[in-house]
Amino acid sequence: MVRQSRENRSKFVRVKCPDCENEQLVFEKASTVVDCVVCGKVLAEPTGGKASIKAEVLAAVE
Ligand SMILES: [Zn+2]
Repeated sequence: MVRQSRENRSKFVRVKCPDCENEQLVFEKASTVVDCVVCGKVLAEPTGGKASIKAEVLAAVE
């Protein structure tokens, strides 16, 4: 019997940049720093697990 951990399900969150109000999707477990595509503000930083989201989270997207 194979037991598989299913904690790798991709999940994204829709965030709004606090500086320019651009909305974009950020991977919840981002392994690199995610910048706003418009103004370059850091929206998420990797922590080893869930990324630390620095922007307003609007919704979770599976
Ligand atoms: Zn921005």
